[in-house]
This record gives sequence, structure tokens and C-alpha cells, in this order.
Amino acid sequence: MELTDLATIRTLCEKYDFALSKGFGQNFIVNPGVPPKIVDAAGIDRSFGVLEIGPGIGVLTKEIAKRAGKVVAIEVDKRLPPVLEETLAGFDNVKIILQDVLKADLPALMAEEFAGMPVAVCANLPYYITSPIIMKLLEDRLPVQNITVMVQKEAAERLAAQPGTRESGAVSCAVRYYAEPRVMFTVQAGSFYPAPKVTSAVVRLDIRPTPAVPVPDERAYFALVRAAFGQRRKTAANAIAAGLGLPRPQVAEALAAAGLDARVRPEQLTLADFAALDAALRAVR
Ligand code: SAM
Repeated sequence: MELTDLATIRTLCEKYDFALSKGFGQNFIVNPGVPPKIVDAAGIDRSFGVLEIGPGIGVLTKEIAKRAGKVVAIEVDKRLPPVLEETLAGFDNVKIILQDVLKADLPALMAEEFAGMPVAVCANLPYYITSPIIMKLLEDRLPVQNITVMVQKEAAERLAAQPGTRESGAVSCAVRYYAEPRVMFTVQAGSFYPAPKVTSAVVRLDIRPTPAVPVPDERAYFALVRAAFGQRRKTAANAIAAGLGLPRPQVAEALAAAGLDARVRPEQLTLADFAALDAALRAVR
């Protein structure tokens, strides 16, 4: 069964009385060249366990299952497991879990399903929750080698943006702290059914063995990063004062102590700048 054929998708939809849901971000891959390219980008082989998020009708799942040791796919739409049972019938190394990925206990799941295996996350993500999913995967400190995901092209650029540059945001800082990101390739809207309005891109995040900068308290560090980017058009000082509820002069003092200009914008701050500012804020508080 060729899952990238529109005729196959239509037949499955009729048989299982299934219509694609916009609400769940269902845009299925219909370009047969794309799944092998994503799996190539993830660099997985038979030794790997792979966590997939949102298998849909299984077009990427099938390609991963052909090449990895084991696949565990988490899908939120309860109409899909019966379809997947048919489309993945030939594979004995796939497990489907019906759950919202944002509510899943991923560290426990990984320990249970992938003990002793190198692990990668590989997915064509539902675009409406790209950032929450990426943040969860990173903050859960999963024992994974890389996260290789298809997202909206602008989201890929944001994820891979270097902190300190114009394109960066809070999510770029979180990604760089935990991982080394790379945009691998773009995918045109016509490669999906239904075609989304935007171009997509595959981004690979290679998880660092240790975070990019040492910080004494990660929660405080990320609270600072989020506060700084909380009000996009403000200076970092004003946004931090508002976001963390601190007196403006205290923030100004910390900026000066960290060797930063009083009018610096959040997107001009590197991870090391945030670490220095975090340390300076501790000292003046
Ligand atoms: N992997 C398939 C493909 O590439 O053709 C489908 C990708 S589609 C862009 C996103 C998939 O994620 C859909 O199957 C959707 O139902 C699922 N999904 C949406 N929200 C989810 C959530 N919170 N947890 C798990 N899966 C979710």
C-alpha cells in the first residue's frame, strides 16, 4: 500500500470514516521522496529506538520502521490507531500509543521502551504546537541523540537562530543551550495533503552532552530569558523589570555589572550574556 498516494488516503478515509482534522494539524506527506530524506537527516540505523510524534496514517512511521530497531509513535487522534493497525500490519517493531504528547511522561516511556538503545526523535510535527513540543522535549532532558523534525520554515529558522542575532527569540536560546541546531532542507507545500499555506523545513537538533553555558539555576536562567523576550519591542531592561517584577534601577545596575549597554535589545544577547546578567541580578537582589 503506497501511503503517499492520494487514492490510498481517500480509500482509507472512506473505509474508516475519517476526515483529516485541521484542529490536530493534520497535513500528511504525499511526496514519496520526503520520508526517506527525513530518516536520512536523522542518521538512524537498526541500533536506534525512535520516538515519533503524530504518526497520522503512518507514512513516516513506515520509513522509520524499515530502518530503525524500534519505533514508538504517540498519536492524539483516537480515530487513527485502527488505520495504523492496517497500514503498518507488516511491521513488528512499531508500537502506537494513543496520547497527547504534551501530557506524556516521556522520560518514563523512554526508559521502558528504549533501554540500552541510542534514541532519536523523528517527526512531522503538528505545526500549531511546534514550540511547546520542542520545549518539552528539551526540558525533559530526554536521553536522545538528536531531534529531527519537520516544522514550518519560519519556525525552523527561529529554532536554529543564533542567540544574539536579529532572528533569535526565547526558543532559539533554549535550543542552543541544550543542542546544536541545523536546518537540513526545505519542503514545498505541495508535498502535503492538504497543502498548507506555508513552506516547511526539516531541522535537526543534536543534543549536547552538557549545556552550552554553565548556570547555577536553570529555572531562574530561563525565567530571565523568557522575561527578556516577553515584550518584543521593549529594551531588555524594561522587559526584564516588567517580566520578573524587579525595580528598573536594579536591572540597570545588573546590566552594567554584566558589561551590557543599558539599551540593549533582547535579541542582541548571547547565551553567555544571559548567564552574566543572571549572575549580576543574583548579586544585586
Ligand atoms: N506523520 C504524518 C505525516 O507525516 O504524514 C502526520 C503528520 S501531521 C503534520 C501531525 C500529526 O500529529 C497528526 O497525525 C495529528 O493527529 C498528530 N497530533 C496533533 N496533536 C498532537 C498531540 N498533542 N499529541 C500527539 N499527536 C498529535
